[in-house]
Amino acid sequence: MSDESDARAGGGMPNHAPGDVDAEDFRRHGHAVIDWIAEFLRDPAAYPVLPQVALGAVRAALPASPPQGPEPMDAVLADFARIIVPGSAQWNHPSFFGYFAISGSAPGVLAEALAAALNVNAMLWRSAPAATELEQLTLDWLRQMLGLPAGFVGTITDTASSSTLYALAAAREMAPDLRLRDDGLAGRMDVPRLRVYCSEEAHSSVTRAVMTLGLGISGVRTIATDDALAMDVSALERAVAEDRAAGVRPLAVVATVGTTSSAAIDPVARIADVCERENLWLHVDAAYGGAAAILPEKRWVLDGCERADSLVTNPHKWLFVPLDCSALYTRRPELLERAFSLVPEYLTVPQADAGESEVVNLMDYGVALGRRFRALKLWMVMRTFGVDGLRARIRYHCELAREFASWVEADSGWEVVAPVEFSLVCFRYAPAGVGEEERDALNRRILDEVNATGEVFLSHTKLRGRLVVRLAVGNIRTELSHVARVWALSREAAKHGRV
Ligand SMILES: *Cc1c(COP(=O)(O)O)cnc(C)c1O
Repeated sequence: MSDESDARAGGGMPNHAPGDVDAEDFRRHGHAVIDWIAEFLRDPAAYPVLPQVALGAVRAALPASPPQGPEPMDAVLADFARIIVPGSAQWNHPSFFGYFAISGSAPGVLAEALAAALNVNAMLWRSAPAATELEQLTLDWLRQMLGLPAGFVGTITDTASSSTLYALAAAREMAPDLRLRDDGLAGRMDVPRLRVYCSEEAHSSVTRAVMTLGLGISGVRTIATDDALAMDVSALERAVAEDRAAGVRPLAVVATVGTTSSAAIDPVARIADVCERENLWLHVDAAYGGAAAILPEKRWVLDGCERADSLVTNPHKWLFVPLDCSALYTRRPELLERAFSLVPEYLTVPQADAGESEVVNLMDYGVALGRRFRALKLWMVMRTFGVDGLRARIRYHCELAREFASWVEADSGWEVVAPVEFSLVCFRYAPAGVGEEERDALNRRILDEVNATGEVFLSHTKLRGRLVVRLAVGNIRTELSHVARVWALSREAAKHGRV
């Protein structure tokens, strides 16, 4: 606009927006940031894996009120290096073995920056054509890598917890006679108790989803597990029959491939038999374990999953995509859509967009309207490493776990306490002549002592009521020497722990 037309339109108001950071400043700081990231990713182990930081220290190091005026980016980045980095647990550290270890790989980091630059909101196809279509494409690539049939349609959510919530919301639509979408649950005498089943080793997100859907914590019935900590299918059958006899309406079963505590694998094919016979929705939680299925020799972990109604796996967990990126697949997208689609006038799509084929608007498959462009990082990670490169990394992780487990097994004072099919080893110090209570105390002390070195981080769980230490390999930079160090530190700590 010329100054003249501007003056006419705005009554003399100048044409200068306060605007963004100067483009040349951005370039300079951008280079500095990338340099910092490159150094950081070259050696994240330069920092202690867990921060040596007191509770409240990060907050106390920063002003309690926002800056009134602009601050130079140099000062902001200096505080990032001085306060934020040392106050962070180093999840990208090769010796981070706690929970499920993850990786924000380099291509994923670049993709996050590019996604922020585009800043598209993938609520409608027309609001983000490339993001919508890339999401469909990348999830179809991943589906092929996992060996799932073509009928599985994928959508990206933030987390497995959301994915499971959405899957169970779709499961509720299997009971149209109950009119839950329209009439809800509250104040109704004509709706029976509804039940969702999962094993006692299932992730807490299953119960949280059921709570959120208004079915109550008692809407979940947990099923006993067998020696391998996998769901006991006859116990499931008995529970369903018992519930039906008591007037409770079974709705869905959540099977887990790779439980959080011990990476146990529920017998999905046999659970699918039950679900088909009983007309129950089968959701598979493969948040962690699904990634292993990209290996031909591990594809069996998803056996039976082709019969599931839905399945979740997290590329942010074990496929080197930075948080957050969860892939939710379903063979019944129409039920997922029925659970969530509600289109206000301002979001209706002009017929012209649709043309001949159906337009997919991602907002119809979850509670979020606005959606980040998460497919970009999945696409960039897949292209940068290729299927072969991803397989090599997952395979190496499985081999590291196997190797570690063999050291533990070879030492008579120690034991591996769950099958090692993935990259997780559950182990404990179990010297002869020591009672179970004391063994728990010993292992807790070993864990604390090993973690206190700042060199490695391990977490724990309880299996059959006993404390066990977990070594979860998942970082793209983890090598044999890192795993060997855990074993050396653990044995050293066990010597100290002995009284
Ligand atoms: C990690 C995990 C989850 C939760 O994943 P989020 O993406 O953090 O919600 C769910 N189920 C299993 C089996 C997991 O291992």
